[in-house]
Amino acid sequence: MVHAPERPAPGAPPIRINLYSDTQTRPTEAMKAAMMAAEVGDEQHGDDPTVHLLCDRMAALLGKEAAMFLPSGTMCNVVAINTHCRPGDEVLAHESAHILSSEGGSHAAIAGVQIHPLRGERGMFDAATLRGAIRGRGRYSPPQTLLEIEQTANIGGGAVWPVNQLNELCGIAREQGWATHMDGARLMNACVAAAVPATEMCAGFDTVWLDFTKGLGAPLGAVLAGSEEFIGRAWRWKQRLGGSMRQAGICAAACLYALDHHIDRLAEDHANARALAAGLRQIEGIGVEEPDTNLVYFDPAGAGVGAEALQAALRAEGIAVSALGGRLRACTHLDVSASMIPETLDAIRRLLRP
Ligand SMILES: *Cc1c(COP(=O)(O)O)cnc(C)c1O
Repeated sequence: MVHAPERPAPGAPPIRINLYSDTQTRPTEAMKAAMMAAEVGDEQHGDDPTVHLLCDRMAALLGKEAAMFLPSGTMCNVVAINTHCRPGDEVLAHESAHILSSEGGSHAAIAGVQIHPLRGERGMFDAATLRGAIRGRGRYSPPQTLLEIEQTANIGGGAVWPVNQLNELCGIAREQGWATHMDGARLMNACVAAAVPATEMCAGFDTVWLDFTKGLGAPLGAVLAGSEEFIGRAWRWKQRLGGSMRQAGICAAACLYALDHHIDRLAEDHANARALAAGLRQIEGIGVEEPDTNLVYFDPAGAGVGAEALQAALRAEGIAVSALGGRLRACTHLDVSASMIPETLDAIRRLLRP
């Protein structure tokens, strides 16, 4: 059995419009120049000044005491859950959460926790649902120790959890003595869309992380933040998982560049996503959800075409979208310009014409 990702088929047309994912951005020339100019040291030894600068800025941005640089968002979740939980614990999360579906079972394999999947529209759940999942504290029950929330909810359509709902859920967690963790892969999309500062958005959470490879344009890197005490303990897991790096400042410099130049512009991605959704809504037979942020989920079944067939037809024209659970997802980002939206809509209209 082969587990490695497939390479592009030889002779596949080059991708002209890449709506596949906001992870597919290429570092800009200016970002690369910032990387080349970075002052570096041995990160594992606490000697990389650029990593320190990034962690200090992220702790301030997120309103936490301390932060840690890691290679990926997945590793932020694995480090955080291992630091918060003990084997046999139960984590409460939405049933569509990335930790459940897309991290290779790492939370079962490495942390030894089980995840209690909660239901709710658009990747979100309410206080009644969370309260309904509270178990007794008898010796029969797994100890519930952590509430995990994704901002924005990826499979939920890039939905933005309202900050008062987050505060209410964190209040229940505190009442129960649970820790709280925000998977903030696309946190800045939520902050820009809702015009809420990040400190406020994650004020109720013990820990939070931000991905620099989701629409922020960096080639790698994510930052996990929390209390000084938590980040101190989390370093054992960073080390254990092989996430301690050497001259990582070269990558932290890309993240610092993204903080300065690629946050406010997320509003353009959201406008492009809304334009795409509005155009798709005009095409007969396409079902489309109104996007809160930069992810547009749509279903062409009503036009008599399967999601994967339309995905393949678009790819043959050099337009990449992803197919997820019977729907298509188009993702806007730094490398998608406003003029690519009408071009994409034209191609879809043409391909759906009988
Ligand atoms: C992408 C993503 C992750 C994992 O981040 P990587 O940097 O790809 O490891 C985790 N959670 C959510 C919601 C994501 O979208």
